Amino acid sequence: MKPKDYRSELEPVWCSGCGDYGVLKGLTQALADREVSPDKLAVISGIGCSSRLAGYTRSYSFNSIHGRALPIATGLKLARPELTTVVVGGDGDGFSIGLGHLPHAVRRNVPLTYAVLDNGVYGLTKGQASPTTEIEFKRDRGLAGPDERPLNPVLLVLSSGAGFVARTHAGNLPHLRAMFREALAYPGFAFVHVLAGCVTYQTPDYAETIYQRCDLLPESHDPTDFSRAVEVARGARFALGILYRRPPDRPPAVVAAELAGEAGVWPPIGATSASAFPGED
Ligand code: SF4
Repeated sequence: MKPKDYRSELEPVWCSGCGDYGVLKGLTQALADREVSPDKLAVISGIGCSSRLAGYTRSYSFNSIHGRALPIATGLKLARPELTTVVVGGDGDGFSIGLGHLPHAVRRNVPLTYAVLDNGVYGLTKGQASPTTEIEFKRDRGLAGPDERPLNPVLLVLSSGAGFVARTHAGNLPHLRAMFREALAYPGFAFVHVLAGCVTYQTPDYAETIYQRCDLLPESHDPTDFSRAVEVARGARFALGILYRRPPDRPPAVVAAELAGEAGVWPPIGATSASAFPGED
C-alpha cells in the first residue's frame, strides 16, 4: 500500500497552509509503513478543524461528537480488537470538553493511537482561546477572559500513567511520520502531541515562535526513564521525539501532585491540601 491508498475521495476543506495537511500526510505515510490494511483501520475523531481528518482517510471513519472520540474509540477497540484504531482531535476537543475521558483512556491502556493536533486555538469556531492558548497569544489577539496558564498536555498524560508519549511538529514531516509509526506499533495507549499551525487564527510571528522553541530530543535521551521524561516535559521549550515509552510489562509510574502543579497541570491532579492552591488559603 502507498500513502495515497489511505486517502478517501473527499478533498480537505482546511485553509490553505493549515498544519493539518501535514498531519494527514504523515499519518498516511506511517500507516503505509506499518502495512495496515484500510479494511483493518478505524479513525475516530471529535469535532473541530482537525477532526475532519477522519473523513479524509480510507478507513472505518467516524467524525463523532465533541470531546467524545476517546470513549467511542475505546468501545470500538474492545469490540473489534483486530482493528488498528487511531483517534484524532484538537486541543479544544481533547483538553476542554473531552478532558474527563483522557486519564481514563490512559489508565485503561486500551491500544489506541491518540493524536492531538494542538494549535492553541479553536479554529472551527473562529479563534477563541483553548486550554493550551498561551497568555502572550491571548493578549496579542485581544481575547477576552482572564490570563490563565495553559495546560501542559504532555505532562498531564505522563502524570496519568501513559506508556507511550511523543511530541512532534506538523511542519517536520519525516519526524511526524516516524512518531506515528512508533505510536502505531505500541501495544497500549499511545499519545502523540502534534504542534500544528493555524494560518488563519495564529499570527505568522506566533507560529514561528512556536517552531523556534522546538528541539529534537538528543540521541542520548532514554525513553524508558520516566523521571527524565517528566523533567523534559516541564521545560519551557518543546522537546520533539519519544519522551517516554514504558516496556509493556512494566507498571505505570506517576508524577507527584506537587510536581504536576509546579509544571503547569493546574490544579495539580490529586491535589488534596489548600497549600496546593496558592492564594486560596
Ligand atoms: Fe486550519 Fe486554522 Fe483554517 Fe482550521 S481555521 S482549517 S485550524 S488554518
